Amino acid sequence: MHDLPPLPYAETALEPHISARTLSFHHGKHHKAYVDKTNELIAGTALEKLDLVELIREAAKDKEKQALFNNAAQIWNHDFYWKSMAPQGGGAPDGALARQIGLDFGSFEKFRESFKAKAAGHFGSGYCWLVLGADGKLAIVTTANAETPVADTRLVPLLTTDVWEHTYYLDYQNRRPAYLDAFLDHLVNWEFAAANFAAARAEAA
Ligand code: FE
Repeated sequence: MHDLPPLPYAETALEPHISARTLSFHHGKHHKAYVDKTNELIAGTALEKLDLVELIREAAKDKEKQALFNNAAQIWNHDFYWKSMAPQGGGAPDGALARQIGLDFGSFEKFRESFKAKAAGHFGSGYCWLVLGADGKLAIVTTANAETPVADTRLVPLLTTDVWEHTYYLDYQNRRPAYLDAFLDHLVNWEFAAANFAAARAEAA
């Protein structure tokens, strides 16, 4: 039985960049529906015993379990997305993650430009992620629909932005790049990304 993880802040906390109305629908309706559907699909099966990441990886192996994969991955993706934002977020990181971004992208500005271009250019629904690869290098990857780097044990997700239309349509209509500017300049939670980076580094050492 999976529960809807609570938002890490109030529904009004990201205003004016993301409205309470958007968060109310996105968390209270969309995210909740993925939880309810996942619970329905695993009820009475051995899959009930798995934690969420185990369930996603198990479902990813079996094309017959595509619906389960989609819903379970969306529980995880949304929880990670909420944590990737903070009320006083945005701007540039500092510390070890900032140094690594400089090494792997040339500069923070180049990282920002590339992240925005990839997120804006992703066709249709999905996510744009900052990940740490098995080679120890940072990369920006996009995934379609519910696809998630957590299904791939070689990639450690550090940060994500949701680019499904339900993320920005009420506030920005079709202007995904305007939503991405708000995300990067006012919302991105670099402390969360830095903590994920530090944990991944510690595990690899
Ligand atoms: Fe979403």
